[in-house]
Amino acid sequence: MITVSLFGRGGQGIKTASHIVGDAAFTSGNHVQDQPLYGAERRGAPISAYVRISQTPILERGKITNSSLVVIADDSLLDSIVDNPLQTVTDSTVIMINSSKGVSEIRTRYNINNVLAVLDLTKLTQDITHKSIPGVAVASTTCKLLGFEFDVIEKSLRAELKEIGIHQEDISRNVELARSCFNQTTHAKIETITKIKIKESPIIDPIYHHPQISTCTITATGNSRLRERGAWSNFKPVIDYEGCTKCMICYVYCPDSAFTIDVKGFPVVDYDACKGCNICKTECPTKVISLVRRENK
Ligand code: SF4
Ligand code: SF4
Repeated sequence: MITVSLFGRGGQGIKTASHIVGDAAFTSGNHVQDQPLYGAERRGAPISAYVRISQTPILERGKITNSSLVVIADDSLLDSIVDNPLQTVTDSTVIMINSSKGVSEIRTRYNINNVLAVLDLTKLTQDITHKSIPGVAVASTTCKLLGFEFDVIEKSLRAELKEIGIHQEDISRNVELARSCFNQTTHAKIETITKIKIKESPIIDPIYHHPQISTCTITATGNSRLRERGAWSNFKPVIDYEGCTKCMICYVYCPDSAFTIDVKGFPVVDYDACKGCNICKTECPTKVISLVRRENK
């Protein structure tokens, strides 16, 4: 069985990417299981999706803990202290990362010795589709690494994008994007996983509080302030104050309370609290907010 884990942020099209990969694998004559995993209000938050591909019926379910191929659509996840995608990597895992950084910089910074491919899928996506949703680029790159033909990928992505209501013109741009990613990705040797290794889960022993003094106590790092939402996105909102009317709609709509107000009454973004979800940009009535790429977090 080939096990593929895709990691990204809500809004990056990772669920769609896993469906395209799953469909392409199925069309290529395999048994397939593809499933995204995310909670409520996930835009900008880490999400994952899993694809199992096998020549025989697939009996296991759930999260993949031992990946043949790990695809990381947002390199900021590599700095995460919980649910870091590298936790599912073994010595034989092939890793693909969407990043503007070079292969050697990624290897050194994250101590990666595996077969590694790095492509700036976000830039390719912006150049070709004029949008910043790299899901199709992720899917095409993944399919190329898995050895599928481009014709199969194109058929799967056209069907998936049509099903989620994407206009024909945008589908054509995405096909062009997929072809470009396909041509720039080298086919890598993907190891088949025959035996699943179960990793030990850490056991947390909560502190006992008598009901009379019981308060909300943080017992795991994943729930603590160590997990700043500022690390959740490759993009951040920038306000052009020339056209800002101080209406504070951005302030009201921000789901993470990332705005404060300065002494002159203008909204100011706290980039440590901002997860780059794009909501303030969408809601700003005067369209003075733009999303720019965070290059060096
Ligand atoms: S500041 Fe804007 S982009 Fe950042 S979390 Fe708030 S609404 Fe989202
Ligand atoms: S929504 Fe736009 S115009 Fe209104 S305060 Fe925010 S940035 Fe300024």
